[in-house]
Amino acid sequence: MHILITGGAGFIGSHLSERLIREGHTITVLDDLSTGQLSNISSLSGHPSFNFVEGSVLDRALVAELVQPAEVVFHLAAAVGVKLIMDEPSRSMLTNVAGTENVLDAALQNKAHTFVASTSEVYGKSAKFPFQEDDDLTIGSTKNLRWSYACAKTLDEFLALAHARESGLPVTVLRFFNTTGPRQTGRYGMVIPNFIKAALDNAPLIVHGTGDQSRCFGHVSDVVEALCRLMKTPDARGEVFNIGNDQEISIRALAEQIISAVGSSSEIQHVPYDQVYPVGFEDMQRRLPDVSKLERVTGFRPTVPLSQIIDDISDEMRLPLTA
Ligand code: NAD
Repeated sequence: MHILITGGAGFIGSHLSERLIREGHTITVLDDLSTGQLSNISSLSGHPSFNFVEGSVLDRALVAELVQPAEVVFHLAAAVGVKLIMDEPSRSMLTNVAGTENVLDAALQNKAHTFVASTSEVYGKSAKFPFQEDDDLTIGSTKNLRWSYACAKTLDEFLALAHARESGLPVTVLRFFNTTGPRQTGRYGMVIPNFIKAALDNAPLIVHGTGDQSRCFGHVSDVVEALCRLMKTPDARGEVFNIGNDQEISIRALAEQIISAVGSSSEIQHVPYDQVYPVGFEDMQRRLPDVSKLERVTGFRPTVPLSQIIDDISDEMRLPLTA
């Protein structure tokens, strides 16, 4: 099958590209290398079934040209990460809304099955746990630009589902919860790579606020498995899925586990939110997915434990030092 992956040089996209090449598909990656890197897809360069195009999803003509031969599109390209969204909110919103509009418009022409990457952020401040796909979404004030990412991704979901309803476009919405593993960069505020890097350097692990806030972390290999199964499941069309691991851990306990796992002498430092983000920044206490719909439809639920995630990332980070 011919598959287009936007954002395929990024963290999730590069792992997905490798897996789909192994399965015998023909893959085209479109990426502007803003947060992605060529090194993520270096194992694929020169492969006869792999094609990399450097460009933007904001380039309508290019998107139309690349979607045209594809039977499946994974639209993963986006401005990602709380830090990036807070630093560059307007550019991020444009990428995350207009980019998706371009991909969906192009897919309408050939009815490619289009997977649209969304996020657990769309659940916003909801306090009904675990989050289920049909729950109400509760976001904050427009004065708090943090919510612009959730709003942009919510609009993407609406657009995808509207095209499904109006034109029969086969779409599937992927609500990713925290996904982590090798190749994820800490530059954009991703907590696990940042903590592991600090622990390996015996530097302080900076915990925002009390550290009582909890999160769930999915291994990228589990996420890729979920995507491959959804691609082969006709029942996934027209549906929204939570994709993530449902084992919860507080950020303080995460820091402690990482320090212990890498044998570090690091200390944990608590820093108030207003020293890291603009005043009024809101962080969520919990973000817990209900993955029963994913399991019901695909027969699969993410289970790789946090200990494995920490081992895999720390092994990768140690590599340049020992090579
Ligand atoms: P990533 O930053 O590694 O991947 C995003 C990719 O998109 C990068 O390679 C980047 O260069 C590319 N990109 C950005 N703007 C582009 C543009 N205008 N044109 C073409 N390419 C562009 O991040 P990721 O974690 O792999 O995220 C993939 C998708 O999953 C994103 O849509 C993100 O919103 C979503 N998501 C990820 C997580 C997570 O925990 N990793 C959680 C929720 C949602």
